[in-house]
Amino acid sequence: MKAGVVDDSGRSMGNVSLPTEAHRGQEFGLERMCETIRQAVAAANLKMSDIAAIGVATPGTMDIPAGIILDPPNLKPWRNVPVRDYVQKKFKLPTAFQNDANAAAYGEYWAGAGKQARSMVLFTLGTGIGGGIIIGDMVLEGEHSHGAEVGHIKIEMTKPRQCGCGRWGCLEAYASATAVVKRATESLAKRGVKSQLKGLANKEGGLTARDVFAAAEAGDALAAEIVEDTAYYLAVGATNLMHTIDPDMVVFAGGMVAAGESFLQQIRKHVAQLAFPVPAEKTQIVYAQLGSDAGYIGAAACARRLYHQRRTSSKK
Ligand SMILES: [Zn+2]
Repeated sequence: MKAGVVDDSGRSMGNVSLPTEAHRGQEFGLERMCETIRQAVAAANLKMSDIAAIGVATPGTMDIPAGIILDPPNLKPWRNVPVRDYVQKKFKLPTAFQNDANAAAYGEYWAGAGKQARSMVLFTLGTGIGGGIIIGDMVLEGEHSHGAEVGHIKIEMTKPRQCGCGRWGCLEAYASATAVVKRATESLAKRGVKSQLKGLANKEGGLTARDVFAAAEAGDALAAEIVEDTAYYLAVGATNLMHTIDPDMVVFAGGMVAAGESFLQQIRKHVAQLAFPVPAEKTQIVYAQLGSDAGYIGAAACARRLYHQRRTSSKK
């Protein structure tokens, strides 16, 4: 769990991380969440009375308007946890609740890569692919809190790969860091292939997406093909979103950001061929800027918005 204190301009004033220890149950987890908040406030040299509002962002599945975590696959014993109300009662402050991927997108929109954008799609490339969609300061939550699942848009249905979600043909099954390693490993297993990745597959921890990108950079043909295909899949995903909502900006976040400008150029090149000419020319395709701080900065952005909403409605 990570908590940070953020000022009105989106600047982080300090943050703290504590282990979730999900197996110790939800009561422990909720108390740990409050403790992380207290420690973050102390780390920023502030008192709880200096805080205007709190934003909590968690993984799904969830009911965002109700403030409840329903059945999160990575917090196994947790079920139907009223996170927002718990935190709100504890600190007696306006408390906002959001999906963590949506929050990261809102953080980038408020204080990172999307600062100048009016609308934005974020893809976070990690073990899976998360993301969020922001349109005119609105976080697209969807009617059932399942909006902006950009990792699970379908990009291949003829001979689809199975996704971590159990379904088939999702972007995540092709372009997450995990999928990059999987595709590289499959290519390496083919008879007679030469690649510097061969030696790396047996190292401790096995092959990583970072190895594949580094080998491609160093001129390895097999790795270069894997990276090129990854750029293509991401361009297909980006184009689908561009043709749906026509955003100002498409932002890529997560570990693959380390791949640098050339990877972004490859994605842009494919988008130029796949998308309609006007969005292909005008939509900015960039990397995220906030790194792993995007989540709590975005949660703070949700809290800030709630705080201002309360003030305006109480004036009426
Ligand atoms: Zn999926």
